[in-house]
Amino acid sequence: MIPASLISKKRDGNHLSRSELSDFIQNYLSGPVSEEQMSAMLMAIFFNGMDENEIVALVEIMVDSGSSLEFSNSERYVADKHSTGGIGDKISLILAPIMASAGVKVPMIAGRGLGFTGGTIDKLESIPGFNTSPTLKQFKSWVNRNGYAIMSQSVDICPADKRIYDLRSRTGIVPSIPLICGSIMSKKIAEGISGLVLDIKVGSGTFMKTIDQAKELGSWMEKIGNLFNIRTDIIFTNMNQPIGKFAGLSCEIEESIECLKGEGPNDLLSITHELGSCLLIQAGLAENKIQAVNIQKDMIGSGKALESFELSVKAQGGKLDKLISSNKPKYEILVLSDIEGVIHTFDTEIIGWALVELGCVQKNKNQDLDHSAGIEFLKKVGDTVVKEEPVYRLFNSNKVALDNAFKMLKKTIGYGNGITKHNLIIK
Ligand code: URA
Repeated sequence: MIPASLISKKRDGNHLSRSELSDFIQNYLSGPVSEEQMSAMLMAIFFNGMDENEIVALVEIMVDSGSSLEFSNSERYVADKHSTGGIGDKISLILAPIMASAGVKVPMIAGRGLGFTGGTIDKLESIPGFNTSPTLKQFKSWVNRNGYAIMSQSVDICPADKRIYDLRSRTGIVPSIPLICGSIMSKKIAEGISGLVLDIKVGSGTFMKTIDQAKELGSWMEKIGNLFNIRTDIIFTNMNQPIGKFAGLSCEIEESIECLKGEGPNDLLSITHELGSCLLIQAGLAENKIQAVNIQKDMIGSGKALESFELSVKAQGGKLDKLISSNKPKYEILVLSDIEGVIHTFDTEIIGWALVELGCVQKNKNQDLDHSAGIEFLKKVGDTVVKEEPVYRLFNSNKVALDNAFKMLKKTIGYGNGITKHNLIIK
């Protein structure tokens, strides 16, 4: 195999065979294909796309790059949720314990920050001691014992996604339908699940900016789910403003805990319930959405979902009592509105890049994240703002990065007159 020859073939718009793709990826994982050669190949895929044979082969090769889990003897329905990425998207952290306490088993393989979007694994690592890279045996035993566990791609499971995901994030090669399908579906197939709900985000704060792009991605992922016998539901949600009140690292864990105590913001809870309803109906635990939402409310109201979260964090080595004291930001700054009006849009992608600048997502390999960093959203779409009123509160422990993020955020709000609508779920 000559790497440059396969890169040129894809660059010129030709199709790669399964064995060519497999050789290229295997040789990347074992060493002969370099980081720059893989980046060039990914960029060629980004510009030229892939046909169905290539996409299915990519998913299979990525699954087969590591081991897969098996839950065929489970008495409980085994299922998961995955999002295509957003800002303030902490739903996995809330949904998994709700599902586990309601009787669904959730073996969740999640990712770090990707491009300008935050990552579940980075957020969890702000809990001192939390182990996101267990052995598969350990992971499976946590899932079987506690109902859910969350780990990262590793050398054992989805190693191809682990490497390619990180490379895509650092080289701006994220918004590609074939690469997103390969990345998400390989993780979900390797989990050994029977059911899946996908939260496909649409808007400025994610990779699919239009509903047409999101629908195309959704139909590919549904097709792959069916091919691998995973019952797959798709929900489209609005990512034109951040979800909830906070985006960042430890602050998102804190907001998730508030949510599990029944004190979370409505947008966050509504999307969680929409996704959770799909899984409870798939599992046969609810007959319809009303029942499914009531079950989820009960899990929160009775404290069972919070208990499940605490149990799972403890099993994974996390010390929740040290979360706040270990992640106290040293600096904070308020962004004030420079005009008066009703907020009608956010440039949510720039908010995401400001979070990267603050230290919530790696810009480069081996960069340490700042787990104290984040943004509080003091106003949301539809709110009236007067001149000099605070709109964002930024915080972290690096003054230079804080000042840079402050400058980035200044022009992220669009003001209008009158009522503005922000439908959470897009039908
Ligand atoms: N989430 C993933 O796991 N992969 C992607 O490519 C996008 C979102």
